[in-house]
Amino acid sequence: MRSARDIARGVAAREFSAESVTREALAVIDRENPRVNAFTQVFHDFALAQARRVDADLASGKPAGPLAGVPVALKDNICLSHGRTTCASRLLENYHSPFDATAARMVMGAGAVIVGKTNLDEYAMGSSTENSIFGPTRNPRDITRVPGGSSGGSAAAVAAGMVPVAIGSDTGGSIRQPAAFCGLVGVKPTYGRVSRFGLVAYASSLDQIGPLARDCADAALVLDVLCGKDEHDATSVDLPTPASHNTLDEPVSNLVLGVPTQAWSTANHAGVTASLKSAIDTYKQLGAKVVDIDLPLSDYAVAAYYIVAPAEASSNLARFDGVRYGRRAEGAKDLTDMLCKSRREGFGPEVRKRIMLGTHVLSSGYYDAYYTTALKVRRRVKDDFDAAFRAGCHAVLMPTTPGPAFAIGEKIGDALAMYMEDVYTVGINLAGLPALSIPAGSASVGGATLPVGVQIVGQPFEEGELMRIARMLERAGQSAGMA
Ligand code: GLN
Repeated sequence: MRSARDIARGVAAREFSAESVTREALAVIDRENPRVNAFTQVFHDFALAQARRVDADLASGKPAGPLAGVPVALKDNICLSHGRTTCASRLLENYHSPFDATAARMVMGAGAVIVGKTNLDEYAMGSSTENSIFGPTRNPRDITRVPGGSSGGSAAAVAAGMVPVAIGSDTGGSIRQPAAFCGLVGVKPTYGRVSRFGLVAYASSLDQIGPLARDCADAALVLDVLCGKDEHDATSVDLPTPASHNTLDEPVSNLVLGVPTQAWSTANHAGVTASLKSAIDTYKQLGAKVVDIDLPLSDYAVAAYYIVAPAEASSNLARFDGVRYGRRAEGAKDLTDMLCKSRREGFGPEVRKRIMLGTHVLSSGYYDAYYTTALKVRRRVKDDFDAAFRAGCHAVLMPTTPGPAFAIGEKIGDALAMYMEDVYTVGINLAGLPALSIPAGSASVGGATLPVGVQIVGQPFEEGELMRIARMLERAGQSAGMA
C-alpha cells in the first residue's frame, strides 16, 4: 500500500484514479481482514461511490483535497450516516447514526474515501481490543498478540497494509498504545484541537480524535485535516491549523527534551528501556539537550484516571436506555425492568464495571473522597508538565507503554495488570496535552521481535513542533538504516 501522500499526489495529478486505489485497498482488506479482524464493517459499494465522486470532481476541474483518493478506516465509535455505529457493543449493534461526525466529514471533505469501520474495546474502554462483541483484533505483527486498544482495529488496519491511515480516539492512550504495539505513528492532539462532535463520548473531558499512520508525514497530513474549530463542539478551539505537514522537515533548533525519572520504571521490559535510551542518544547526536525532569504526580495518574474516566462514563452512558438508542430487552414487566434488562443485556462486563465504579465515586458521601481528590491529582499532574515546559523543555520524552504487545488472553482476567498498561499515557489526557507514539526499536519476547514506541509529549497546541521533533527521530532512524 502506497503512502497517503503518494496517493493524494497521484490522484490529484490524475496519474491513477481514486477508484483504482480504493479497489486495491478493498482487495487487501478482503484478503487480510479474516486473519486480523480489524474491521467491523467494510463498505465496498459506499467506498467505490466516494472514490468515483473524487475522480469525477477532479475531471470537472475542482481542486483536489489534501487527502484526494486516500482510503481511510474509521474507528467504530465515530458516527457515520452510512452503515452502523456500534462501539463494539451489543447495545448499539444495529444503531444507524443519522449524521456524520465532524472528523468524518472533514476527512471526506478533503477527498478521503472511508472504506469501513474498525474494531475497538466496547465504548473505547480497554487496552487490548478484546472487549468487543466482534471478537478480538489480532496484531498483524504477531497474530497471537493484541494490537493494543482501544483503537486496535484502526492500528491493525494500517499495520496490515489495508489502509495507509486510520482515525482513532484517545481518552487514556487508545491511539498511542496501539500505535506502539503495531509499529506505527499515532497522534493524540491537544484537548480542544479536534472536534469531538459525533464521537460517542466515553469521558468527555479526556476524549480526543487523532490519526494513526505508518510515518510522521502521513500522520501530519491527516492531523492537519482533522484540526479546527467546530460550532458543534464547544470545547474545540479557534486556532490556525498546525500546518504540521508543511513544516515537518524543519528540525527544531536548540531542542531541549525532558526525560522524567519515572520513565525508568523497573517494570519496563528491557526492550522499552533500550529503545528509550537509543532515542535519547539519537536526539543528543542531533544536537538536542536532554535533561532529567521529575513528574512526581504521575505515580498517581492511573488511580486518578480510573476515577475521572468512569465517573464521566457513568454519566455519558446513561443515555443508552433502550428507549432512545439501540437494543431494547424483550419481556420486561415495567419501565424500570426494561431499562435494567436492556442495559444488563446490552453492556459487556468491563463497561458495566466502569458504570458502577463511576456511579459510586460520584455518589453522595464518596464524591469528595474519590472524585474531588482525583480532580486535585489531575491538576497537579498538569502542574508537573507545566513546570517542565516552563524550565525550558520543548517536549517530554518517555515510553508509550511499559512493554510490547502482550498475548491475547494474557491480561483480560487481571484488571490491574490491564490498567497498568496505561501508566505512561493517561497522565497526558488528564493534562490535556498533545502527544504521539513513534516507533523507536524492538523487543524480543519468546522468539518474536515486536515493535516498541517512544512517546513525545508536546506543549498545548504545539502539534506542529511536536511533529517536527518526532520527524527528527524518524529521519535519523531512516538514514541509520540506509548506512
Ligand atoms: N486503556 C484506557 C481505558 O481503558 C484508555 C482507553 C482510551 O483511551 N479510550 O480507559
